[in-house]
This record gives sequence, C-alpha cells and structure tokens, in this order.
Amino acid sequence: MITNNPLHTTNSHYLQGGGEMGQLIRDFDWDNSVLGSPEDWSQSLLTTVSIILSSKFPMFLWWGPQLIQFYNDAYRPSLGQNGKHPKALGQRGEDCWPEIWPVIKPLIDTVLEGGESTWSENQLIPIYRNNKLEDVYWTFSYSRVTDETGTPGGVLVICTETTEQVQSYNKIQSAKNELEFAIEAADLGTWDLDPKTNKFICNDRLKEWFGLPADEEIALESAVAAIADEDRERVIEAIKKSMASGSDGNYNVIYTVKSLKDGTRRIVEATGRALFDTEGMVYQFSGILQDVTEEYQLQVRKDEFISVASHELKTPITSLSASIQILQKLVKSNPTSDKVPVFVNKASNNLNKLIHLLDDLLNVTKIQQGQLALNINRFDLVELIKDCCEHINPLNEYEFAFLGDDTLMIYADYRRIDQVMINLIGNAIKYSPQSKRIEITVMHDDERATVCVRDFGIGINPQKLPHLFDRYYRVDAFGHQFSGLGLGLYISSEIITRHNGKIGVDSTVGDGSNFWFNLPIDDKLGL
Ligand code: ADP
Repeated sequence: MITNNPLHTTNSHYLQGGGEMGQLIRDFDWDNSVLGSPEDWSQSLLTTVSIILSSKFPMFLWWGPQLIQFYNDAYRPSLGQNGKHPKALGQRGEDCWPEIWPVIKPLIDTVLEGGESTWSENQLIPIYRNNKLEDVYWTFSYSRVTDETGTPGGVLVICTETTEQVQSYNKIQSAKNELEFAIEAADLGTWDLDPKTNKFICNDRLKEWFGLPADEEIALESAVAAIADEDRERVIEAIKKSMASGSDGNYNVIYTVKSLKDGTRRIVEATGRALFDTEGMVYQFSGILQDVTEEYQLQVRKDEFISVASHELKTPITSLSASIQILQKLVKSNPTSDKVPVFVNKASNNLNKLIHLLDDLLNVTKIQQGQLALNINRFDLVELIKDCCEHINPLNEYEFAFLGDDTLMIYADYRRIDQVMINLIGNAIKYSPQSKRIEITVMHDDERATVCVRDFGIGINPQKLPHLFDRYYRVDAFGHQFSGLGLGLYISSEIITRHNGKIGVDSTVGDGSNFWFNLPIDDKLGL
C-alpha cells in the first residue's frame, strides 16, 4: 500500500536519498504495516535502513520477528523484471521467497540466534524473476543487526550476484576441457615458457617424449638437452628469433628429440608463438608439439623411392637406346652382321626389365585403389614353381633343389602366385651373389599349402625384418649395390594377404634367408 503523502517525521533524515528505493520506502504506508510508522522505528532500524539506502553495494535487510524486507537500488536488478519488485519491499520474507525459503531460513535463524555471520561464495540459489525460475549465483554474507536493547533486530544481507562471472568461468572451463580433449585426441605435446624465469611448463606427453621428470616446472635447459645434438643449435636459434623484439613471434621448427631417459628418438614439429607486451618484451612463449616421425620417414622413403625409380628406369632405357642406335648403324652398314641378334637380344632384355618395373608400379596403384582382383583357378602349385624356375634359369646358372611335395593341387590366382614366386626367386638370386643354390620346399596340411624359398646369400639385419614388406622399403646391403624399387615384397605380401594367406621371413646375416608363405588349399577357405 502506497500513500500519496511523503514522509514528514522527525526521523525523515534517516530515509533521505537512495534513488528509486529511497522514494519507495518513503512512500510506503508503514503505518498499516507490522513495523508501524517510521517515527516509532527503533534507532537501530533507522540507522541500518539509512546505511542500506546510501550504499552502492547491493544490500538487503530482514527486520523484526516477521522478517520484514528492505533493499536498495544496487540490489534491485537482482529481482529482475516482472518478478518480486516492488512487492518485496515491506513484505514478509517467507511470503517473498517461497522457492528458496527452506534454504535461507536456517541461515537467517543461525545468525539471529547468535551464530557466526555467514559467507557463501558463488552459491546457486535459483529465484523467480523475468517470469521464470532462473539459476542465479550469489556471493553473500548474512550478519546480525542488534538493536539498542541488545537483542537481535534483524539480518543484514550484503551480497552480489555472480551469475555472469560463474557462467563465464564455466564457459572457460568447458572450453579448456574441450581443448584438453582435442590435445589428448590429437596426441599433441603442449608447452608454455615463462621468459622471465626460463621455467617451462609442459603436459605429460611432452615430458614422456623428452624423458623429463614429472615436476610441475622444468628449467628450459633440461628440455633443450633432450634435443638431438645435430638439431640443438638450430632450435635454439629459432627460439631466439621468435622471441626477439620486432619479430612476429611465430615459431615453427622440425627437429629430433632424444629422450633423456631411454634415448628413444622421434621427429617432432613444434609450432608456437611468442607474445609481446606494449614495450616489446616477451611475456609468454607457448605452443604445441606434434610427433611427425612416421610422416617424415614416409616422406623420406618417398623421396628415396623417386630417386631410385628414376635410376632404375633410366638404366634399361639408356641400354635400350644404345642397342637401338647400334642396330640402326648395323642395318645400314652390315645388316647380316652376327652382332645384330646380340643387340636385338640386349634390347629385348632391357625392354623386359622396363615392362617388369612398370608392371610393379601399376600393381602398386591397383593395390592402393583396392583393385587387385583375383582370378581363382585350380592348378598344381609344384608345377607352377618348376615352370617359373625354368623361365628364370634358362641357362641352368643356378642350382634349384625342390623339396617336399611332388604335386599339390590348390585353388588360387595362377598369375598372381607366379608373380610372388618370380619375386621371391628373383630376390634369392639377386641377394646371393656368392651362392648359386636355392632350395624350394612345398608342404601342406589339411588346410594350407606352404612354400619356402631358401637362399644362402647375404641375409638380412634382424632390425630391418619388421619393415621388409612395407612399400618402397629397401635395406642398405653391406656395401653391395642391388637394383630394385622396394616393391616386390610389398606386392607379394598384398597378393598373399588377398588369398587369406600369410607371408614371412627368417634370416641370418651372412647365412641367407628363408622366405615363406602359406595359402588355403581349398577355395572355400575364406576366398
Ligand atoms: P627390391 O626391389 O629392393 O628387391 P623387395 O621388396 O623385393 O625390393 O625387397 C625389399 C628389400 O628386402 C630389398 O631391398 C632387400 O634389401 C631385402 N631382401 C629381399 N629379399 C632378400 C633376400 N632374399 N636376401 C636378402 N635381402 C632381401
């Protein structure tokens, strides 16, 4: 109830000012309220209301046994639009706050009964405002106001709404969580250098890569010690350049890390940025690290492959072109010369080499595109192997020993298995410069046929064995120069895998190698 008469009492100076709420308090019909006319209010109530009205900090007061309410302009926005304001003024606490009364009444009672003032930070107290129940966060303190008789007169609430801060904090927190998730999923290392202290903070993954202790902060020097000797100076220069005043702060460098704990090497790409203050001084230098070992080594292998392939293709083309030039001259000068068939033969051999190399390259493309189709037939595996050896060894330069089965009918793609045998026997010959003997064994059980091609050549370093069937992979062969593209075993392995078979090798350096593969005998076994 609001009267038209402004308040004119001897106590009116206590209720001066206070903006909108001051006016509402002065206009309020207190005579008809439980508190009675302000003229009769206790000194403590008048003083407290006066403090509330003059404060720019949000304040709220519950007074008397009915907990009658006062609040100031600073508090007023917390009541929102179309909500409790202005009805909350002069209202009983219980009538105003039914939705949170069970939460706040015990706090009020504790304070009134002589307990410590309360302190709550960023507490969620949903209130009804703006036509709905809203999640509102508050930092507030309840303190007792004692009246002049020494009894508790009311509870003063000094509070501030922190909804926006809490929501911003939650947003930052969830963005941070998302970022951490992305860093985790992308297998990234992260680092942050404090240029003033030279302390280096990094995530666990980076510590593992560098072999650093689990400490929270690490001296930059320790991290730098884990950079491979050959790269260290280059990385230090890149760091200095990014942090130099006048630089754009960008940092991107690829280097090798050698774990300080176990010496494991990995190639990493570091990307970061130095941030400068207004005086051009770096205040932060941070970024991420990505393990690029695999990409880098593929890339390196690809580069090697291109150079090997160019060389491999050029050699037969050069010989072929030389043979043809000689033939052209002979055709003019001496067409019946007995050198003609020799050069025709040479030209034909080189042409075959070229066809073979191009076949390998085309096969790789087919494998990559998933187009290596199989044409399954029934045939004698032993017969195929013997034909293949005859074809490879027309002049009986090599001594082939056929062990095991004399005949073995299987279902498979004849042409593709022939291709595998050409690769394995061709390698057995190529990588055995000092030995002419090659043992070929065919065995079988109920389900599988197994073929072993054993040579007594240079053998293979055990460390290289796991990569042998990779595309473009070639082993550095103890000072020997062997031609090849590093594709034969890759293609063979794909062919055998497509047949649901397995391929492998046992080898000892200096003693030779035993390449083997097995295949299902029956076409119903998985084909
Ligand atoms: P390449 O064209 O280089 O011969 P392959 O894929 O056939 O390619 O073989 C890959 C590598 O495996 C070869 O470069 C060679 O180092 C090694 N290798 C293959 N077969 C043998 C073998 N019988 N003895 C020793 N090393 C071999």
